[in-house]
Amino acid sequence: MRHHARSDSRAFSRRLVLATLAIAWLVGSAPAQLARPLDPILYTVRVIPESQTAEVRATIPTGKRASIDLMMPVWSPGFYRVEDYASRVRDLTARTPDGKSLVVEQPRKNRWLVRTAGAATVVVTYQVACAQRSVTTNWVSPQLVVLNGAPTFVTLVEQVRRPHEVRLELPATLPRAMTALDAVADGTANHYRADDYDTLVDSPIVAGDLDVQQFDVAGARHYLVNAGDRGQFNGTQAAGDLQKIVSQARALFGSLPYKRYVFLNVFRQGGGGLEHKNSTLLTASAARATTPAGYRSSLSFVAHEYFHAFNVKRLRPVELGPFDYENEPHTKSLWISEGFTSYYAALLVARAGLDSTSDFLGAMSSPIRQLQQAPGRLVQTLEQSSWDVWSNSMSGINTDPKTSVSYYVKGEVVGFLLDAHIRRATGGSKSLDDVMRLAYKRYAGERGFTPEQFRKTAEDVARVSLAEWFRRAVSSTEELDYDEALEWYGLRFASRDSQDASQNWKLEPRPDATDAQLAHVRALLTAAPPAGSAGSRSAARRPTEPDPTAWHPNAAAALGTPPMRNCPVLPPRTSPRSADPASRCPAHV
Ligand SMILES: [Zn+2]
Repeated sequence: MRHHARSDSRAFSRRLVLATLAIAWLVGSAPAQLARPLDPILYTVRVIPESQTAEVRATIPTGKRASIDLMMPVWSPGFYRVEDYASRVRDLTARTPDGKSLVVEQPRKNRWLVRTAGAATVVVTYQVACAQRSVTTNWVSPQLVVLNGAPTFVTLVEQVRRPHEVRLELPATLPRAMTALDAVADGTANHYRADDYDTLVDSPIVAGDLDVQQFDVAGARHYLVNAGDRGQFNGTQAAGDLQKIVSQARALFGSLPYKRYVFLNVFRQGGGGLEHKNSTLLTASAARATTPAGYRSSLSFVAHEYFHAFNVKRLRPVELGPFDYENEPHTKSLWISEGFTSYYAALLVARAGLDSTSDFLGAMSSPIRQLQQAPGRLVQTLEQSSWDVWSNSMSGINTDPKTSVSYYVKGEVVGFLLDAHIRRATGGSKSLDDVMRLAYKRYAGERGFTPEQFRKTAEDVARVSLAEWFRRAVSSTEELDYDEALEWYGLRFASRDSQDASQNWKLEPRPDATDAQLAHVRALLTAAPPAGSAGSRSAARRPTEPDPTAWHPNAAAALGTPPMRNCPVLPPRTSPRSADPASRCPAHV
């Protein structure tokens, strides 16, 4: 259009420009942002295994301002704890592109002010100590590199979307890197681009001798990247099983919200996993994955982090975005973001045919037992637990069971009970799946939901008021009511006060369960197609595949003790900041 010469065309162009400027003003963006992309910040990250550091060189546009403000985040989205990343930054200096030294001040622990001397760009260099193994920190060794965005990249203090590019320089001992960041197609290795700082922070990078498996679901490419001490870990089998889990998530939501997703599975000491929009960073134990129970537990762990790609990374509480990296957000809804994610991890693994019905019942018994044995359930409500996460725990992990309730544990139980409540209220025609789909449709993306909006969404599905149900389960410390779920599914607790602790709160099928109740269990553990799709519940599984929900009403005695989804056995922490989520499982953050 620029090349059009006719006067009416020029007038139209002027009107378009004016309209564009007006829109830019209305949305509070800099007009230049719409006129052309902002100049990117360019980082070169040189990894130095000998000193366990990364040397960062950032070329930063100044907009010709006399000074610029830089910051490093104080927290990482998904990990609800203030962490002092800036304390691991050393020797931060600034120069003009032709090498003239510039004045740098540090008005706050995580902020730097650079006097630009009128330069259009400044070059800031600094060292980052990389000797911590948690999922929000950095690790550099001759064999393995794990870089997270928040503790690595300083950026401009500004409220705009600006591209950020990273060139990673690796020594020969670290032949390959993987990340969810888009590669820049300029022929150089390990050159990545993010459309904005959020994407950069949300895309950890792992480098080393990597075993990379790949699979596709619905046209989206998935990578399982196994790094570190892999031992005898069977990456091929794991990729096949993850494909089944991803397929179940796709059946649940009807589509996948990305074209490329990366499981960064790092075998090393410690524990923990952290969700990202198009990837997850996992800490794994190869030894643990060699036992059937340990392997299933690890699948559940991965399924939890993966489900976050839908629940919290896209469908999120309104408070969790856009992120203020210098101030922590408070929300009452982490029981939805975390507890329901744990519930759906258990469901996806069972629906994928990787857990039997008894495995699933064992998986649900575990949080019920934890909750019912924790006095804190009578002290703190679910929404208080979520709200207070910044002050009383390691991101909701290692909470004191005497004085607090875990939103992971109680949130998962509430998910199970709410699902049963909706199924019963609708005669089995609707479920929590429908709530998640509808909430996703209404609130995923830029919007986010309030607690009231989420409850209203559930009510729109259930077609009954849930005010009293939510008040009791979420806003009070009253005991949860299990009877409805037990009745709907034909279940019972083996015991509530046995000397044998493993029997307490252990869900088991009732010997006299009716065909209708058995059908309810099958419906729960069979993927429901999204509304409007051509499939049906029974068609969701191919007839040749074993039916994981197959059971017999008299099978209770034969089921034995279901494998507990215990937390991985963790070695002593090497860092007090290791993310060892352990209230239910160390992995789930
Ligand atoms: Zn989580």
